[in-house]
Amino acid sequence: MLTDIIESIEQAEMVLVGLGEEFNDISAIKEKTDYLEGRRRIEEQGKLWILPAYEEYCRSLVPERRNIVEEALGKLAEILQNKNYFVVSTSVNPIIQNIPWKDGRIVMPCGGIYKKQCPDGCSEALQDISEEEKEQISDVDSFIKLGNCPSCGKPLIFNNIYAEKYDENGYLSQWQLYTKWLQGTLNRRILILELGVGMKFPSVIRWPFEKIAFFNNKASFYRVNETLYQMSEELKDKGISIAKNSIDWLRGV
Ligand SMILES: [Zn+2]
Repeated sequence: MLTDIIESIEQAEMVLVGLGEEFNDISAIKEKTDYLEGRRRIEEQGKLWILPAYEEYCRSLVPERRNIVEEALGKLAEILQNKNYFVVSTSVNPIIQNIPWKDGRIVMPCGGIYKKQCPDGCSEALQDISEEEKEQISDVDSFIKLGNCPSCGKPLIFNNIYAEKYDENGYLSQWQLYTKWLQGTLNRRILILELGVGMKFPSVIRWPFEKIAFFNNKASFYRVNETLYQMSEELKDKGISIAKNSIDWLRGV
């Protein structure tokens, strides 16, 4: 199946990739008591913004899932390296930002753990986290100190969708590049790869991708998903659904 995709990628002028919840890869940890207990504590303390870092930590403790998202997406980045592509991710898995994508060709509208913000959303506080702070993140059991807001003095938090007052300026400039890129897809042979995208944030990837596929006569559309792989009636001529976990599918297993 992956060979068909490689051929479709070669024939396409532009490739649009959507990465969804499957890339959070919590299937191996979500039933574990330790994970659930940690998550309960995080929720209790109202610190859900720690979740992407916490889940990354929990994944690292499961040998058979360690590095598999990196392996899967590394492979995709390699296949795409000579193409004009853009990646949109609603997954908050921090690994996604470390994949060698082309410069500026990824937008993560749900944020992650590489930017910090004020819990109250003071605009002056939004910034990248430092290398030193990045190192602390791997030790989530210790208290994560990200400094204080220059405006109100409150301790800063990770800039992601789980923040109570999520500062969307963290991804805005990339989003503008993305929408500009999308304008250039009109009448082009575009290949749309929707990978592991569920119904958590359908207005970011799922619905707009379907719309692009529907209106562009030269579009082809691949939907890979373990559970939500069904293709809509309108797209059944251009779309191919693959009922498989997208990480495993990319790894060719
Ligand atoms: Zn503040």
